[in-house]
Amino acid sequence: MIKIKNLDFSYPDSGFRIRIPTLEIGKGDRIALAGPSGSGKTTLLNLMAGIIVPQSGLVSLGEKLISSETDAARRRLRLGKIGFVFQDFGLIEYLPIHENIMLPALVNRTVPISSDLRKRAVQLCSDMGLPDDKRKRVEKLSQGEKQRVAICRAVLTSPEYIFADEPTGNLDSENGAMVMDLLYEQASANGSTLIVVTHDPLVLERFETVVKCEAFRETEQ
Ligand code: ADP
Ligand code: MG
Repeated sequence: MIKIKNLDFSYPDSGFRIRIPTLEIGKGDRIALAGPSGSGKTTLLNLMAGIIVPQSGLVSLGEKLISSETDAARRRLRLGKIGFVFQDFGLIEYLPIHENIMLPALVNRTVPISSDLRKRAVQLCSDMGLPDDKRKRVEKLSQGEKQRVAICRAVLTSPEYIFADEPTGNLDSENGAMVMDLLYEQASANGSTLIVVTHDPLVLERFETVVKCEAFRETEQ
């Protein structure tokens, strides 16, 4: 369960401000966050993941009130519970595909690097039609391939929450459908809460619940 209450957030030195009186997303729900560019979709996803915190108001993720945790505690919580697909992928370009996908296990000591996990990484790669040569560095991949590596990495540890920021933004409709199928399958298999930022109509039509971010925007008078 994700709960937001009386949230007020603005970036320093920017006129951008969002206010959310109340927003609740149930465990296992699948939600799309929509809205035009600049409406605050990435900002809202980052607030829900505790990457940034609001000036006032509450954000809770399950039992944890993340808006009042320390930076270190929020980072630990993210590593343990959230698979995040960043809009700009956030991959380590000089590392091979496989190492990038295994990264959550490499940086999180609570996830054991078992042979099963390695097999899962290989399986995810082939499900996503990524190059067989797992030694191939990410910097040699196309944008679409990088996007799929970022998605494999986000779902590797079967996280409780999957947050994906425009996961089909660099993909043609066939690859876009493949990625959305994978995100849905992974969310169903683990009962994960799935939140997808998108303005792609083919992605939006898969969701029963669409939250429109422009509704939260406060315009400066
Ligand atoms: P979206 O994902 O819907 O395109 P964003 O959440 O990225 O929108 O951005 C919302 C607004 O906040 C934009 O006007 C953007 O320029 C501004 N913004 C985003 N990140 C920052 C930042 N780190 N500092 C200042 N302003 C920012
Ligand atoms: Mg964005």
